[in-house]
Amino acid sequence: MEANSEYAVQMHGITKVFGTFKALDGVDLDVRKQSVHAILGENGAGKSTLMNVLYGLYSADEGEVFLNGKHVDISNPNDAIAQGIGMVHQHFKLVHNYTVTENIVLGMESVNRFGVLDLKTAEKRVAELSEQYGLMVNPRDKIEDITVGMQQRVEILKALYRGADTLILDEPTAVLTPQEIEQLIRIMRDLVSKGKTIIIITHKLKEIMSSADVCTIIRRGQYMGTVDV
Ligand code: ADP
Ligand code: MG
Repeated sequence: MEANSEYAVQMHGITKVFGTFKALDGVDLDVRKQSVHAILGENGAGKSTLMNVLYGLYSADEGEVFLNGKHVDISNPNDAIAQGIGMVHQHFKLVHNYTVTENIVLGMESVNRFGVLDLKTAEKRVAELSEQYGLMVNPRDKIEDITVGMQQRVEILKALYRGADTLILDEPTAVLTPQEIEQLIRIMRDLVSKGKTIIIITHKLKEIMSSADVCTIIRRGQYMGTVDV
C-alpha cells in the first residue's frame, strides 16, 4: 500500500533480526486514523517487537515507517512521543509510592516560574483528561492504593498527557478482570470517537471481535494478512 495520509501509522517491510533469529520478516501494518487496529498472533510471533520498533525501542534492520502519510525516522521513545505515539507496555512502569499525577509528570519539565514542580496545574490537567475520556482516575491517589485496571488507565493518561494521538496497548487485557476488560473496550471506543487511533496487541481472538475494527495477523514473524472485523 502507498503512503497515505488517511493512515495514522504505516509500517512497510519491517524486518528485525536478533543475532541469527529473524523476529520480523518484512511485516506490513497499515492503521487507519480513528480506528482500533488489533495485532493478533501467538506468543513469540513478533507483535511486541513490531510495536517496539514503532515506539523507537528497537531499530528495524529493514523497512519504513510513515505517520499520516509522511516518512519518519523514530530512533527512540522521545522521538515517538514527539510524533504523537504513546505506548502502554505489558508491564507498567509506575512508581508505587508516588501519586497518579507525580507518575504522569515524571520525567517532564513542568516547572513553574518559581522553579517549583507545578503539581497543582498538572493535577488539574490530569483531572481534565480523565474526565474527557471517561477514565475515572483520581489525580491524587497513590499508585499502591489503586487496582491494576486503574494503574493501566494511569499509563493511558500518561500517554495522553504527552499528546499521544496514537496509542499502542500491549496485551492490555492480560492483567484485567472480565469487568475491567468491558470497561477498557468502552474506553478504547470512546478514545477513537474523540479522534484517537489505537493499536491493541492480543493473542486472544475473542477480544478482537468485540473491540477492534481491523485485525492484522502475524505468525512467526511473518505477515499473514489484514481483515476488517
Ligand atoms: P510476541 O509479543 O508476539 O509474543 P515478541 O515480539 O516479544 O513476541 O518476540 C518475538 C520473538 O523475538 C521471540 O522469539 C522472542 O524471544 C524474540 N525476541 C524479542 N525481543 C528480543 C531481544 N531483545 N533479544 C532476542 N530475542 C528477542
Ligand atoms: Mg508481546
